[in-house]
Amino acid sequence: MAVPKRKVSPHRRGIRRSHDSLKPEAFHECSNCGELKRPHNMCNACGHYNGREIVAVGL
Ligand SMILES: [Zn+2]
Repeated sequence: MAVPKRKVSPHRRGIRRSHDSLKPEAFHECSNCGELKRPHNMCNACGHYNGREIVAVGL
């Protein structure tokens, strides 16, 4: 069985985990309906992007 040669110091462990944190997802208000949407993506609520309707949303 492969075994680590040395104990990882608290400092080394911290360096390894420095990239582990999760950032919150970016959200922006839709200019058409005010719903939160992902930037550079069509609005899921009303189907608008860049000021015009891309996908018709059935009501
Ligand atoms: Zn919208």
